[in-house]
Amino acid sequence: MRAMVLEKFKEIMPVKDVAEPKLSDGNSAIVRVEANGICRSDWHWWMQDWGWAGIEPELPRILGHEFCGVVEETGKNVTDFKKGDRVIVPFTIGDGDHNCSHCMEGKNNLCDNLSIIGCGSDGGYGKYVNVQNADFNLVTLPESIEFFEGSVLGCRFMTSYHGIVERAGIQPGETLVVYGAGGIGMSAMHIAASMGAFVIAVDISDEKLDKARSIGANAVVNAKNVNPVEAVTEITKGGVDVSLDALGGRETTVNGVLSLKKGGRHIQIGLTSALEKGEVALPVDIMITKENSFISSLGMPRLEYPKMLSHIANGNIRLKDLITKRVSIDEAPAIISSMAEFKPVGMSVVDRWQ
Ligand SMILES: [Zn+2]
Ligand SMILES: [Zn+2]
Repeated sequence: MRAMVLEKFKEIMPVKDVAEPKLSDGNSAIVRVEANGICRSDWHWWMQDWGWAGIEPELPRILGHEFCGVVEETGKNVTDFKKGDRVIVPFTIGDGDHNCSHCMEGKNNLCDNLSIIGCGSDGGYGKYVNVQNADFNLVTLPESIEFFEGSVLGCRFMTSYHGIVERAGIQPGETLVVYGAGGIGMSAMHIAASMGAFVIAVDISDEKLDKARSIGANAVVNAKNVNPVEAVTEITKGGVDVSLDALGGRETTVNGVLSLKKGGRHIQIGLTSALEKGEVALPVDIMITKENSFISSLGMPRLEYPKMLSHIANGNIRLKDLITKRVSIDEAPAIISSMAEFKPVGMSVVDRWQ
């Protein structure tokens, strides 16, 4: 099969023919990938970031943690899925073990033996992928959602959904500022706008801010030209109910916290990068005097999928509008390397392997 393979960190990844994966055990399934989204986490892994967070791929590795496709083969113990089923593969692969309290609560994203597909094992930049504990981890992809749209339900869209809706508990009429108009940020803005929140986008690219407006942002701030905290405070007359750092890093994290009104809550989805190595100093005294909350969010528990899919089916969500480019696997290496300059606008999805 054709696959993009990470052989050496920071070197353009070759696309080559490799052996197809085999079932790892009776609980696994082989999924034929129909679409794999190009997520910024791929760039971090390629750059050899995140060793300090305990998530670094062993090489060689086929990255790709945001994909959907069709079940090709199932192990003998798999009962809920069969060949031909359309499936989403959430990137947080849980063990589904009865002794793991998190998995038993449906929180595969917090599994004690969590494995990130496309980092801890080979992922969706190859045409076929072995998915462990298939009954526990796979989610049915509704017929109404096309494959190229469904891929983002494996990482960026669902991560934003869990963060904004469940963790931050955003309500209609509340104000939200999103730092970073990338895939996570755009998804969060679109979801919050669809629920009736007032949404402000902050980025340093006018092109991305234009895109943010088109998917639901009510106001935009270019942080290259103005102090974003002052701008957000001015727009909202005192600060937002919810701030999201979709990017990760000292500046966006602290600016997010400082954009809050009294009682507001900050949601952190972006992991830090090589500059911070996981540590950011927070304005704790200000947070106390304003009773601000700092909330983190990782992926999405499997039990929230039915609610999210229902929201997509019944609400004003247009997954198509979030995806700007459908590309072949041969274009993926250059797109990932261009993420150093934050070039891609919107979300790019690989949906061709030939
Ligand atoms: Zn991702
Ligand atoms: Zn578990």
